[in-house]
Amino acid sequence: MTIQLDLATVLLLHQCSFLVGALCFLYARWQSRRGEGLGILATAFLSLALSSTMAGLGDREILPHEIWTLGTFGFGLVGYAFFWIGMRRLSSGRQRLADWLALAVPVVLVVAAAVTKFYLDDAVRGGISNSMSFLSLAASAAGVAADRRPERLPVRLLLSVVIAIGSLLALLVVFAMVAPTLTPLSPRWAFFLRIICHFAIALFVIILVKERAEAELRHAADTDILTGVGNRRWFTSRMPRVMKPDDALLLMDLDLFKQVNDRFGHDTGDQVLVSFAETIQSNLATGGSFARLGGEEFAAYLPKTSAAEAMAAAERLVDSVRELVVDSNGQRVPLTVSIGVATSKDTAHSWSDLLKMADAALYIAKDTGRNRAVLFGTPDKAAA
Ligand code: GH3
Ligand code: MG
Ligand code: MG
Repeated sequence: MTIQLDLATVLLLHQCSFLVGALCFLYARWQSRRGEGLGILATAFLSLALSSTMAGLGDREILPHEIWTLGTFGFGLVGYAFFWIGMRRLSSGRQRLADWLALAVPVVLVVAAAVTKFYLDDAVRGGISNSMSFLSLAASAAGVAADRRPERLPVRLLLSVVIAIGSLLALLVVFAMVAPTLTPLSPRWAFFLRIICHFAIALFVIILVKERAEAELRHAADTDILTGVGNRRWFTSRMPRVMKPDDALLLMDLDLFKQVNDRFGHDTGDQVLVSFAETIQSNLATGGSFARLGGEEFAAYLPKTSAAEAMAAAERLVDSVRELVVDSNGQRVPLTVSIGVATSKDTAHSWSDLLKMADAALYIAKDTGRNRAVLFGTPDKAAA
């Protein structure tokens, strides 16, 4: 069976692919709190739809040749310039004013076309349009892939691949113009495959917006809003179901924190919590998890840590908090912490067992003078 692709049908599908994409982008922009780049991408697809529509009207001889050729050329170039700006903005999440300089390319080319009339030559017009399309798509694909470092989203790979395929197809059209006998794909088929790429780009952009929103929600659900460290929910989710031998838990509680609030005010209390969290985090070995469980109570989970190592770490933390300087109107806020330490040595305890043990040790630390670390099951218990 041979498939016939007549130009009028292909052009209609081409227009539809851009219009559907533009609608998707506009809807996503309206729905999402952070719609960076989506409005620009919608403008890009609308401009490309207009370019395609003018080509269709020209093909049916509804528009004069001079009008549709210049219109198709101009709106196409502007569309691909907007596409690159919008995709860069969407992908990086940042607005770069310098990116708008990309619009100078279509402006210069359209002015040159109007003056020299080169756009009347199908080969020259098509060659420049497809080269612009290739450059814009290739640069966009590279940008989407490169931005995976600051923001890992699974759909980035698919989006960058589909944009890269679109750019290769544009290049193939240029190649077919230069060497028509050598091209592996007829321009009409290349055009048809590009239509599929437009639909895929629209779909993957929507998925990117959704994945980004989900990642933000997950982050917000797992983070303590005041200190920026993980919260109890996040901490619990990090705990193994059964603790492995040599897992250690440090339960920390700021000493007499109510007095800090009473004496220096709640704002200073908040500032103390932030400084405390920063100090602990910078003093903890990498590989551990640290979170605010609630109020002035924090916890650190240290895997593969012996009781002696956990106690040494806890004592280092006690010292670092004692040395922490938080200033309130020229006065230093006195600050100490008590830490209960428990390890799962010998028996495999559950996370809640370990928490109870650390809590018991913390209670002893509070009861025996505060500003210290106590290991669960040591003679300190007798002292209590
Ligand atoms: P102890 O040494 O026995 O732990 O004494 P404490 O005063 O630290 O303990 P207590 O449980 O009596 O008081 C805890 C205080 O922590 C009371 C509460 O107002 C304060 N607190 C809890 N969450 C926050 C917060 O987010 N910001 C501020 N500023 N204070 C908080
Ligand atoms: Mg306290
Ligand atoms: Mg407390």
